[in-house]
Amino acid sequence: MNYQKPKGTVDILPGESEKWQFIENKAREVFNLYHFKELRTPIFEHFEVIVRSVGESTDIVSKEMYDFYDKGNRHVTLRPEGTAALVRSYVENKLYGPEHPQPFKAYYIGPMFRYERPQAGRLRQFHQIGVEAIGTKSPATDVETIAMALDFFQQLGITHTKLVINSLGNVESRSRYREALIAYLTKVEDQLSPDSLRRLHQNPLRVLDSKAPEDQTIVEKAPSILAYLDEESKTFFDEVKKLLNNLSIPYEIDHRMVRGLDYYNHTVFEIMSDAPGFNHVLTTICAGGRYDGLIGEFGGPDERDTGFGFALGIERLLIAIEAEGEELTTSQSIDVYVSCFSHEESSVALRIAQIARHAGLIAEQEIQYRKLKAQLRTANRLGAKFVVFIGEEEIQSNKITVKIMKTGEEKRVPCEELQNFFEEMKEV
Ligand code: ATP
Ligand code: MG
Repeated sequence: MNYQKPKGTVDILPGESEKWQFIENKAREVFNLYHFKELRTPIFEHFEVIVRSVGESTDIVSKEMYDFYDKGNRHVTLRPEGTAALVRSYVENKLYGPEHPQPFKAYYIGPMFRYERPQAGRLRQFHQIGVEAIGTKSPATDVETIAMALDFFQQLGITHTKLVINSLGNVESRSRYREALIAYLTKVEDQLSPDSLRRLHQNPLRVLDSKAPEDQTIVEKAPSILAYLDEESKTFFDEVKKLLNNLSIPYEIDHRMVRGLDYYNHTVFEIMSDAPGFNHVLTTICAGGRYDGLIGEFGGPDERDTGFGFALGIERLLIAIEAEGEELTTSQSIDVYVSCFSHEESSVALRIAQIARHAGLIAEQEIQYRKLKAQLRTANRLGAKFVVFIGEEEIQSNKITVKIMKTGEEKRVPCEELQNFFEEMKEV
């Protein structure tokens, strides 16, 4: 029988996995500078946790959930996104308490699951990096978090970025806008695409997101949410803009950008890439916003019922890095190849390889006792900087021969000095 991985999944193989590690390490490094800590939640959650926060009428919940009943007849789902789980954890573990730093700032890195039609850059198991800052209503938090995302991209060599922001206003502004939008769309409902028609009463803001060609002129003429912001919402959005200017971060405002999830309000943003490899077509690489009210949905305290976060997909991030013409340098080479020709030599070789590893060098030893030429070919292919020889003579004199591959020079090193020797060689 031939086994194959499930549709919409990938094996991340050596050679590729180094790039993932590089990205994940960079994320940890940059987020740490902004005092975000890692929070790891389970990969599955109670179905309700996701429905409650993401929203019944979203594509994620209505079409894309990997949900099932377990052997105890509990309705659970593989997580389709990270915010719901993190907020659930924040409330459940009372991370709003005085013994935790406030605001509470956390990030996650890991797999997400959505039952979608697999295609380029779209998988059933994909991976996200995301952050959340909970319990702060300050616009400084929005701007700090956006700046952190931009720093992260900068560090990865993604420089063709464009920041787009919008405000959905507070709950009252958003619902006044919702009414106005429904009124407008109802007038032209016979021209809407079937998807948009369905969304019209369930989730009308999502019509603005529509990619259907027949919806485009309708969407263009739709009322702007910015005209419906009340004083509080306007002041908040003005402050966000001011603080972005304060950090000299350029941005554009797109009053039609609404984001797909139900829980957003006030600031929403996307970072887009127009890297040469995308033929200057704008591609979203990071998205997020403010979700005041979500913590309350989970039973969290009113005075901490505010949050701001973003998420990005690692698969699409890799595509964006490629589109920049950047090659993530992932060194595959080793430092030391320990050659040997017999079972007896092999145990000495093993000890020498250990000494090299404990000195911080990547070491590999010959295990097939092949001819010298074959061993050297392997050492070269692995990019070894040094090859160690253990011959009979070496064992007798308790000195081994180290060949420096770059210069061809050979050195005889007493075994007891080997650790020091390797440590010095690390700098070479
Ligand atoms: P799209 O409009 O492309 O479906 P989305 O609005 O569903 O995106 P979000 O829920 O905001 O996306 O998720 C954030 C990021 O996660 C996306 O920008 C993308 O990089 C990534 N992502 C989402 N779904 C998938 C998927 N099925 N496969 C790979 N990456 C994905
Ligand atoms: Mg989607």
